[in-house]
Amino acid sequence: MATIQSSCLCGDVAWEVVGPFDLLTHCHCSRCRKSHGAAFASYVMCGADAFRLLRGRERIVRYESTPGLDRPFCSRCGSKVPSDRVWNERVSIPAGMLEGDPQTEPLAHIFAGSKAPWHEVTDSLPQFEAFPPGVDAEVFPDLEARDPSADDGARGSCLCGGVRYVLCGPAVRCHNCHCLRCRRAKSAMYASNLFTFANGLRFTRGKDLVTSYKLPDAEFFAQDFCRICGSPMPRFDERGFGIVSMGSLDDDPGVKPTRHIFVGSKASWFTITDDLPQFAERPTQL
Ligand SMILES: [Zn+2]
Ligand SMILES: [Zn+2]
Ligand SMILES: [Zn+2]
Repeated sequence: MATIQSSCLCGDVAWEVVGPFDLLTHCHCSRCRKSHGAAFASYVMCGADAFRLLRGRERIVRYESTPGLDRPFCSRCGSKVPSDRVWNERVSIPAGMLEGDPQTEPLAHIFAGSKAPWHEVTDSLPQFEAFPPGVDAEVFPDLEARDPSADDGARGSCLCGGVRYVLCGPAVRCHNCHCLRCRRAKSAMYASNLFTFANGLRFTRGKDLVTSYKLPDAEFFAQDFCRICGSPMPRFDERGFGIVSMGSLDDDPGVKPTRHIFVGSKASWFTITDDLPQFAERPTQL
């Protein structure tokens, strides 16, 4: 089995893993959705001795989202990076950002009972309400929306709750992006991004916790994230859009992604099973 490399969005943290891989699952729990800003988080497991951090240990910040579960991320760009915490002699690796095919079939959707209302599961994999049978771990209740006073739109927040916002404007576009930048930024199979106008987004708390990383060679691509927990947070771009990583939403925005873009760069180990239109790159119209 070949060695597969991977890195965060900025490239400061890099790692390599050697297969075989197994236990590829898509987790829909509220903490994974917030941590990744995505519809779900996909993790695959490999032997603990098959994982090697190549660089960037000093960049890694850990946020403990529930007792004993830390979610390490790159403090420069916000990408989630693998935890070296060992479970049954194995470690868990974000599967969407790998730079090679782990050659293992996805096993199941876990925490399907916590699924985002704007996301539909359309494949035929088994779905488990929480952990799959045989995993004896505590199940924590889903996170609740945190700002009861904000009532002019769908609320959103980061995993630690330090940053909160309201989506008060219309969604002008909503799509799933499979480009490698998005897969690295969200450490997920793809990003689900909602676009509104710049005045359609309002931070209600913790804007000072938001750190921005702009990719040097990109025209618009950036990632804004909470520096405490690493969750992707809304950002405003030079074109006048406000962009929400949909996994951070607490409430249903009332819209769903309408297409897949950059499927030419899709992870080959992920299969799209819905019938939304697919574009190899960026469609001409935003
Ligand atoms: Zn980074
Ligand atoms: Zn999860
Ligand atoms: Zn946070």
